[in-house]
Parts: sequence; C-alpha cells; structure tokens
Amino acid sequence: MSDPFDKMVSDARTVFEASASKPLRDAWASLSLPQIRADLIQRLSVAGIGEAESDARFLLAHVLAPSSYADAVADPALFSWQQMSGLADLAWQRLERRPVSQILGSQPFWTLDLLVTEDVLTPRADTETLVELVLEKCAPGVADLVDLGTGSGAILLSLLSERSDWSGIGVDLSPAALEIARQNARRCGLDDRARFVEGSWGASLAANSVDILVSNPPYIRTDVWRGLEPEVRRFEPRQALDGGEDGLRDYRSLLIDAVRVVRPCGLVAVEIGFDQGADVTALFEQAGLDDVGVKRDLAGHDRVVYGAVAGTNG
Ligand code: GLN
Repeated sequence: MSDPFDKMVSDARTVFEASASKPLRDAWASLSLPQIRADLIQRLSVAGIGEAESDARFLLAHVLAPSSYADAVADPALFSWQQMSGLADLAWQRLERRPVSQILGSQPFWTLDLLVTEDVLTPRADTETLVELVLEKCAPGVADLVDLGTGSGAILLSLLSERSDWSGIGVDLSPAALEIARQNARRCGLDDRARFVEGSWGASLAANSVDILVSNPPYIRTDVWRGLEPEVRRFEPRQALDGGEDGLRDYRSLLIDAVRVVRPCGLVAVEIGFDQGADVTALFEQAGLDDVGVKRDLAGHDRVVYGAVAGTNG
C-alpha cells in the first residue's frame, strides 16, 4: 500500500478496530436507536451505575446534538454510524465509571458551564449554597475576594459573575487545576477580574489583603474516602477530597491564614460535610471569628460555616 492516503485510512482503521469500545459497536451495529438506548441502560445498570437512565440520556443528547433523541428516532438518518461509534466510546468510559462530567468535558454550576477534567473536583450543586451565602452577606460594592483551593474556579467565577465590581484570586496547589480555572475564567468572560496563583491555602497572600475568603477544602475523612464510589475515588483528585484522619485538617490550616489575610470585619465562609457543623463552628470560634453561623443546603444538611474577622477594636 504505497498511497499515503490509503495508508492513513488503513492506520486509522487499525486503531479503530483495536479501540476498547469495539464490543459495544459490534453489539449495536444492527440495532435501532431505541434498542441501543435500552441496551445501554441495561449495561450501565449491570455495571452498578445507579443513574443509568439519566446517564444514558446525557450521553445520547451529547452525540445526537443538535438533534433530539425523539427527532433521531423519527428519522434514522439523523443517527449516523459515526454517532453510534461516538456513543460507544462515551459509553465505554462511563462503564469504566468515569463521571459523566469528565466524559462530556463540562458541568453546569450556578449559571455557568465549566470545563471539568480529572484535575479538578466536579462542581456539586451543594456548593451553590456557599455562593448564595456570600451573596446574602455581601452587598454589591467594590471588594477583593479569594477562593482557596479553587479547583475549576467554580465558586470564584460564580461570585464574580454576580458582582461586577468584585475582583478575585483563585489559589490552588495544583498547576493543572489552575490551568482549568484560567480556561474557565476566559470561557465565562471573567478573566479581566480573576487571577490565579499557585500556593498552599493563604500562604502566598499578603496580610489584610482581601474582604471575602471562601473555600471548599477537602473535608472527607480518609477512611470514608476509601469507601467512596469509583467515580469519585478513582477519577476525582484525592487532593481535593481527603481531609485527613478527622476530615478537619484543612480547616485548621486555612483558618490560620484566613485571620491574617482577611481585613477586619471581612467574611470567611467555607463548605463543610453534612456532619461537620459543630466541629467547624468550634474551629471558627477558636480562631477568633465573630458572628459564626451555619447555613443549610437544599436537602436540609449543614453545608456552610461562616464568620466575620474581628474589627480593629473587637
Ligand atoms: N461534596 C464532595 C463530595 O461529596 C466533597 C467535597 C470536598 O471534600 N470538599 O464528594
């Protein structure tokens, strides 16, 4: 085979034939779209995936876009062999328990759509409670914000999207996470007000340099982390989840920085695990924060602890 084009096609075919999702393509080759959907749901359920039906819906919507599933059922020409093959690739990753957010590459959070990879925690709806709390406590007006352990940048960027006169810094230990956060800032049109800095909690920040400090630190106890579902344990960064033996390690570290970095009367607000309200409240009080409170998420669980840095005379 001397023709370079023929060689390219043949090489591509070899790679394709060897690809992991071949068993799915073979199984689906002679099935209709509804049959493929049913088979996909069945395989996801057998793999132990609880949300098999909605996961199948997300994967199908992704490969069929801009057509809908109903359109493609009505008109089989809208579901090409390439799309079936693409669906097989996505489904294979899901069967290996990669989270849907990482397979599709993005995740909605607040009003934003954020890029997500293995290098960052997928933003959770629970974390919107922290965004809400900060917006409740802080009226519009110029303010400097910092998000410690920013990951994808979800909290920082959501807050900047709501307050056009705020500027913010996202800090993270992971350069790979910071790269995703920077891309998200550009994607959301917020890169003129967001900066990203590599560092451990607030160590790289000057004293009295911000008005608002937020964080969703790792807070899962190590023994609990070991028992988490494969989606989280195998595919999300342990560094963003494992909060040490008692799950409180990173609150202790970041509070030391918070009282130094946040200006008098400024706000400190952190996400917590559902059973950490009392412990983290006690840590905030020990750190000397005033007006310490807890906010619940939509499920009624304690989800955010907040407090004010003492004023100059108090
Ligand atoms: N809420 C996340 C989870 O349940 C944990 C996030 C964190 O440790 N900060 O997986």
